[in-house]
Amino acid sequence: MILMDGKSLRNKILEEIKIKIAKDRIKTSLAIILVGDNEASKIYIRNKVKACEEVGIIPVTYLLPEETTEEELCVLIEKLNNDGTITGIILQSPVPKHINFDKCSSLIKSYKDVDGFVMANTYNLYLNDEKLVPCTVKAVIKLLEEYNIALEGANVVIVGRGNIVGKPLSLALLNRNATVTIAHSKSKNLKDITKTADILISAVGKPKLITNEMVKDNAVVIDVGISRVDGKVVGDIDFESVSKKCSYITPVPGGVGPMTVAMIMENVLIANEMREK
Ligand code: NAP
Repeated sequence: MILMDGKSLRNKILEEIKIKIAKDRIKTSLAIILVGDNEASKIYIRNKVKACEEVGIIPVTYLLPEETTEEELCVLIEKLNNDGTITGIILQSPVPKHINFDKCSSLIKSYKDVDGFVMANTYNLYLNDEKLVPCTVKAVIKLLEEYNIALEGANVVIVGRGNIVGKPLSLALLNRNATVTIAHSKSKNLKDITKTADILISAVGKPKLITNEMVKDNAVVIDVGISRVDGKVVGDIDFESVSKKCSYITPVPGGVGPMTVAMIMENVLIANEMREK
C-alpha cells in the first residue's frame, strides 16, 4: 500500500507557485470573508492565510460579527468585486442562518471566484472547459495525477453528492474519461456499489463509513471526509482495515485537506491570468 502524501505535495506545489510569483513579479491578493465565530472556519482561514504568506499572495481577511446582515455582506462583496487590487474572493462557509450563502457567494465575479462556485465557473466545468474549478475537486485530481493513477476508463465511485465536492468532482472525472458512479444517503446496497470501484472516493463526513469489506482488492482510496472524534480529525474511511487491502490511500489528516489549500493558491494565479485577459 502506498500512502498518498498530500502534505508533501502541498509543499512542493506551494514552492513552485512561490518561485513563479517571484520570477514573474506577480502581484495578487486574496480576500477571505468569515461571518461569525465558527471555530473550524477560523482554522481553515489560518491555513489559507499561512499558504498565502508562504507563496507571496497578500491575504486580506474580513472577520465580520455574527450579527452582520445579508445586505452588509453583499455590499462588501460588491466592493471587493470592484477593487482592482483584489485578485480572488472567498466567502467562508458556513455562514450564520440568517444569511443565504448561495445568494451571497453567487455575487462574486466569476474571474475572482477562486472557490469555483459561481454559475459561470460551474457551467465551464460542465462544458469541459475548466477555468476556476472547486479546490477540493482539483486537490483529488492532482493527487491522482501525481501518483500516476490512470483515470481514462477507470471505474470511479464517489460516495457523496454535495455541491462542493461530490457533484463537481463527478464532472471533472467525466472530463478525464473515467466511468463515474455517484452514491449518496438514499443509495441501496452501498457495499455492492463501492466494491466495483477501481478508484473509491468518499466525500460524506461520517467516520468509518467505508470499511474493509466495501473495498475491492488493490483499489485506490481517496478520503475527502473530515469529522472530529474525541478532538481528533478523522476521515470517512476505516483507515486501519482498508489500508491493508488497497493499493493507494490518502491519510486524514495529511491527504486531501492540505492539497485543497494549495489548489486555492493555484486558483488565485488562474484568477490573475483571467483578470489580465
Ligand atoms: P454535503 O454537502 O453535506 O454532502 C454529503 C453527502 O454525503 C451527501 O450527498 C449525502 O447524501 C451523503 N451521505 C450522507 N450520509 C451518507 C451515507 N450514510 N451513505 C452514503 N452517502 C451519505 O458535504 P460536502 O460539503 O460535500 O462535504 C463532504 C465531506 O467532505 C465533509 O466531511 C466535509 O467536511 C469534507 N470536506 C473536506 C474538504 C477537504 O479539503 N478535505 C473540503 C470540503 C469538504 P444526500 O445527498 O442523500 O443527503
